[in-house]
Amino acid sequence: MMNSPENNEDEEKLAECPASSEEAGRSSVCEGCPGQTLCRMQGGPDPDQEIIDVRMGAIKHKILILSGKGGVGKSTVAYLLSLALAKCQSSKVGVVDLDICGPSIPKLLGVENQPIIQTPYGWKPLVSPNGDIKVMSVASLLDSDKTSVIFRGPRKTDTPPGTSDEHMSIVKLLKNAKPDGAVLVTTPQEVAMATMRKELSFCKKMGVTVLGLVENMSGLVCPCCKETTEIFPGSGVASLAESYGVPVLGSIPMDPMITECCESGRDPMENYPESPTVRSMMGISNHLISLINR
Ligand code: ADP
Repeated sequence: MMNSPENNEDEEKLAECPASSEEAGRSSVCEGCPGQTLCRMQGGPDPDQEIIDVRMGAIKHKILILSGKGGVGKSTVAYLLSLALAKCQSSKVGVVDLDICGPSIPKLLGVENQPIIQTPYGWKPLVSPNGDIKVMSVASLLDSDKTSVIFRGPRKTDTPPGTSDEHMSIVKLLKNAKPDGAVLVTTPQEVAMATMRKELSFCKKMGVTVLGLVENMSGLVCPCCKETTEIFPGSGVASLAESYGVPVLGSIPMDPMITECCESGRDPMENYPESPTVRSMMGISNHLISLINR
């Protein structure tokens, strides 16, 4: 899908829709489907494009956090980065979690199980317990944490967990809002780096500036002695970054204290400021601030 020409994209979307198959080609299949309007428009502009442009235009800096594959720590990096950015500059920070398959940001930022309030202007974002970060996620729109989201066809492509088709939709929707660029998250293993190469090519093709790479799980912080040990073999992101001419923003080790914070909703910046992961993330945040303010 990554290399599909753009005009094949809509055919692929329609192929995913049950109404496009002969077996299910009945109008009743479309009844109640949230993708009906998009289906009819078949690749035309998104009906919400104007409002997206207006609202995103009011936000000074927009940073995409992307990865080539799941499980490399995209959500963890987004979570730690939002905390670090809020701390570094006392800036107003918001996180939009566009993962529909396994949204975890509300839990990480301590707003799990809070209802979203509908206002005349749209959904009101939730606010993290310390008041620093605004949060919007599909997880907060579900009745319970056991409810799953089932989207097919065009509606699913509005929201990206990790494949290029969905990335493409979000990049297109944000085009007018001119994001600062993307932070790409990877782990040291060759299998993750291989997908990172594809992600870098994707960003180049789509005209998305790569602000830099973050190497997550670059080692393991021992819970006893706090020494960091390398656990995954790999050549490191430095040579990959060099060959694509993009900076490495930093490396963050795995720290069981961070995992504990992720599970409990506790703020690692407040509770474990000496964690190598926290210190590294503060460095990454400062690096990023200098890049976007250039
Ligand atoms: P993704 O969003 O890419 O699917 P996650 O951010 O959900 O990945 O990370 C997967 C798991 O690894 C989570 O349980 C998370 O707590 C853990 N994890 C990721 N990075 C770290 C880290 N640096 N230190 C500790 N745990 C981590």
